[in-house]
Amino acid sequence: MTTRVWDYRAEYHQEREDILDAVETVFESGRLILGESVRGFEREFAAYHGVECCVGVDNGTNAVKLALQALGVEAGDEVITVSNTAAPTVVAIDAIGAVPVFVDVREDTYLMDTDLVEAAVTPRTKALLPVHLYGQCVDMAPLREIAERHGLVVLEDCAQAHGARHHGRLAGTMGDAAAFSFYPTKVLGAYGDGGAVITRDEEVDRRLRRLRYYGMEDRYYVVETPGHNSRLDEVQAEILRRKLTRLDRYTAGRRAIADRYAEALGDTSLVLPRTADGNEHVHYVYVVRHPRRDDILAALRHHGIELNVSYPWPVHTMSGFAHLGYAEGSLPVTEALAREIFSLPMYPSLSPDVQDEVVSALRTVLAEL
Ligand SMILES: *Cc1c(COP(=O)(O)O)cnc(C)c1O
Repeated sequence: MTTRVWDYRAEYHQEREDILDAVETVFESGRLILGESVRGFEREFAAYHGVECCVGVDNGTNAVKLALQALGVEAGDEVITVSNTAAPTVVAIDAIGAVPVFVDVREDTYLMDTDLVEAAVTPRTKALLPVHLYGQCVDMAPLREIAERHGLVVLEDCAQAHGARHHGRLAGTMGDAAAFSFYPTKVLGAYGDGGAVITRDEEVDRRLRRLRYYGMEDRYYVVETPGHNSRLDEVQAEILRRKLTRLDRYTAGRRAIADRYAEALGDTSLVLPRTADGNEHVHYVYVVRHPRRDDILAALRHHGIELNVSYPWPVHTMSGFAHLGYAEGSLPVTEALAREIFSLPMYPSLSPDVQDEVVSALRTVLAEL
């Protein structure tokens, strides 16, 4: 048997009645696009974060894209971010003609090294785009200071950090706006695609509502600035409303699994994830590091265990971003991580049996290296 790195079906079987009831609720409602469920989810997701505004969109990539546009980022503007991220962060910047500028990540958390950001600011810089990768937050105080000094906007990429906290504050409440993905594997996942942007700025909220709806005000047929069709689907919104009430429970499940890994692997040669001071981690991905990563993954395959790497190719080395001009070696920590990290199965309904199977195979493989 091959161990699956992610499987939503155990969770579905537990929640089946509620999920099917959500679908039925929308189908019976008489309104399939931008109805009560999207409005309800927006209200409840904003309230969860203690902010006024939430706009549901079709996926996390477009959440980043529309948020950048709503914050005033235009073609040619530079956006400082990291290369150690899911490619969509960078695809979204590129999609509006803005220019991604990469800084390296820290050796301890694998997150944006905020000490490198100020040196990357140029007269063309418009935005900082920290990515709260793997489930914990980037250190936000230095970023806010730099943004203030240089008149920049801050967009948080929260696609992997629903419910994470940084010195008590929720991910997504520390910048000018925040982009979320509800891709099924995420900490809050839909049964298909979905995304959202939250903000405290009502003008940004208004722009987002137009941008997701062709560039029109709801129910008026006039386009002033052409937008997109990037609406959150009504069925996904209703499912997300139900699942939002269980978000903290999902996170507790992830933390218990992380604790079990730490307990079972703490005495091995693997470098386990470290939580930065002041952070409450939600463990979207459980990333471990070892210089002989490729040998370990190959040996695990013989035990029927196929694991993921998040991410094996740094964005700045991808052929699609060659035009950005980053040579190999330009982001040494990011590049070393791409060679040395891998991820252990992590989702709330992961069974202890499957987790034990992975741990025991991994311990065997490490002992035989
Ligand atoms: C998943 C993810 C996205 C993109 O979200 P989609 O819903 O798949 O478009 C963006 N940024 C990060 C960091 C992600 O993990």
